[in-house]
Amino acid sequence: MARGTIEIDEMRCKGCALCTTVCPKHLIQMASHFSPRGYRPAVLVDPDGQCTGCVLCATICPDVAITVYREVKAKTTVQPVPA
Ligand code: SF4
Ligand code: SF4
Repeated sequence: MARGTIEIDEMRCKGCALCTTVCPKHLIQMASHFSPRGYRPAVLVDPDGQCTGCVLCATICPDVAITVYREVKAKTTVQPVPA
């Protein structure tokens, strides 16, 4: 399975919480602190590395505040051993 993570730009986030409703792993919460813009921003809470980089959160964000990073392991091929 692909592994991923996200970055949320506090200066863009307006605290609408839409992203918290779509994460299939429930990894996004609203922060208890306020951003410089005066909103409680969304934060990733993923201590066990469950984010798959599915991009649902970034897709729904109306303010393009979320950047997704996704790592997909390349398939390795086994070379036949010469006889
Ligand atoms: S990329 Fe997918 S799994 Fe990761 S935080 Fe966003 S919605 Fe959740
Ligand atoms: S959807 Fe975007 S603007 Fe709304 S809380 Fe999430 S990151 Fe912030």
